[in-house]
Parts: sequence; structure tokens; C-alpha cells
Amino acid sequence: MQCSKCHRDAIVFQPYSGLHLCSQHLTADVEAKAKKQIRAQGGLKPGDHIAVLLSQDQNSWALLYFLKHLTAQRRDIRITAIAIPDGSGNRSDILRAKRFAECLDTEFLVVSLPEESDSRTETCPKENRDPASFPVSRISCSFRLDRFAHLHGITKIAWGLCLDAAAAVVLGNIIRGAGENRVWGNSYQDHLPRICPFISVTALEISLYAASCGCGDEQTIHPEQRDELHKDTIAMLDNYTNKHPATKYALLNLGETLGGPGRGIKGLIQTCAWYGESLRCCCNVSPIPHEVTDGTR
Ligand SMILES: [Zn+2]
Repeated sequence: MQCSKCHRDAIVFQPYSGLHLCSQHLTADVEAKAKKQIRAQGGLKPGDHIAVLLSQDQNSWALLYFLKHLTAQRRDIRITAIAIPDGSGNRSDILRAKRFAECLDTEFLVVSLPEESDSRTETCPKENRDPASFPVSRISCSFRLDRFAHLHGITKIAWGLCLDAAAAVVLGNIIRGAGENRVWGNSYQDHLPRICPFISVTALEISLYAASCGCGDEQTIHPEQRDELHKDTIAMLDNYTNKHPATKYALLNLGETLGGPGRGIKGLIQTCAWYGESLRCCCNVSPIPHEVTDGTR
């Protein structure tokens, strides 16, 4: 199939736009969406120190690549890659992330998350496994990540959240009946800003973008979802989107609306951070070790 914008072969079809795109035009499309989101999320400012949170999925790797190239001519903006150990003691993922950051000539830090003594470090009680009912006061990881960021002069944390994941959070919150203001973003007002440039890009498009930019990695994975309701929500959403291609964008818009007056996409991002934190806790993922020390390349 031919690209809708040139004569090259298309590598992807966008059902929601009706366009077939070649590699070059897909790259342009992804980067245009990402730049638009950065502007909508407050833009980049002189003196910004942006930490790209590298995880096991390649969304974050593609995001580091994108931000490094976007700011290549900006001497007033610093980009750092950061990674959080999974608590298993297996350092292979950290080492892969470190090597990737080094390939992009980017400073790399391993996040250490020391315990705090306040109530925000309380662990998740077993009786509180529903993200919709999880009290914000008990959420600790994001607060400790903020503390780490402040210690290193980081002004923004960039997160490789994609359209599919954000839409699943919006639908998941609706299914769980979580309509309170705190669920839709108000709880994180004091947090260090999170930016998600890829929030309006599908996971498939990010994957193809990463491959065309040479930053794809066959070892990167989409982390297994262990929350059954969240897993069912994703399956239902994917199935419905096959018949109604614009569904995930509709949910993104709904999430922005529910984010609250004047907050929009920032409110939705905070909701997604809160939701992800809740799922991580509810799924009994290994705790982040406290003894992890800073690592530099
Ligand atoms: Zn083309």
C-alpha cells in the first residue's frame, strides 16, 4: 500500500485518520503529536532539567531519543535518563537502560528512593486493593521520586505514557466508578510536573517510530498487567477500538475534561500516575529497595 502523502510504501495504517503512512511520514506524524503535547503540557523552558524515566518498554526509550533530538540545539535544557530498579536485585534491565542512555550521550542515574518518616510512605494494606479506593496519603513512590528529582535539580519528569495506556486508565476509572476529584488529578497538584509527549500516540506507532529511529530493542517488553480488572479493561478497549477506531482519542478527550477546570491534560496525566501507582501497589510488585545508591555513567 502506498503512503497517503508520498509515493513510498506505507508501513502503517491509521484507522482513526484513514491515512496510510510511510516511515518518514509516520516519524513526522509522531513527532508533531509529541511537540503539540509538550506545548499543551506547559512547554519546555530555559533552565529545564528533564529526567526521562526509562522502563522496560520501548515507549520510554523512544521518548529519550525524541527529547534528545528535540533539544539538541538547546544549551539551556538538560536531559537526563533515570531508571528505577524493580527490587528483584536483577541489574540487567538497569544495565541495558544505561547502555542505551550512553549511546545517546545522555547522563544516566539510578533512582534511589530512601524511606521517609511521614505517612506518605505507608505500605499498601491488603484490604485496600482497589485503585479507586486507595487513599492518596498512602502513596509513596511518586513522592520519593520527587524527592530524588529535587536532589538532582530535575524540573520535569518525562514519562513514556502512550494513548492506549491513558485511554485504559480513563475507562478503568469509569468502570470502577471512581469519579471523585482526587481520582481525576487534584491530588498531585504539588508534584513535580510530569510530561507525557506520547500520550496521543498509539503503542503501535511508537513501536514503529522506535524501529525507524534505530532505538527499538527486541528485549523491551510491555509489562504484564497483573490486575485482572485492568487487564479486562485493556482487552475490552482494544476489541471495541477495532470497530470504532477513534475510541481511545475520545477517552483521552474525556479524561482531559474530567481532569478539572484549567487542568485538562495535566490533570489526566496525574490521574494516570496515581492509577499506575495504585496498580503497582495492588499487584504486590516487589518494593523498591532502599539501599540502592545513585549510579552515574
Ligand atoms: Zn510518505
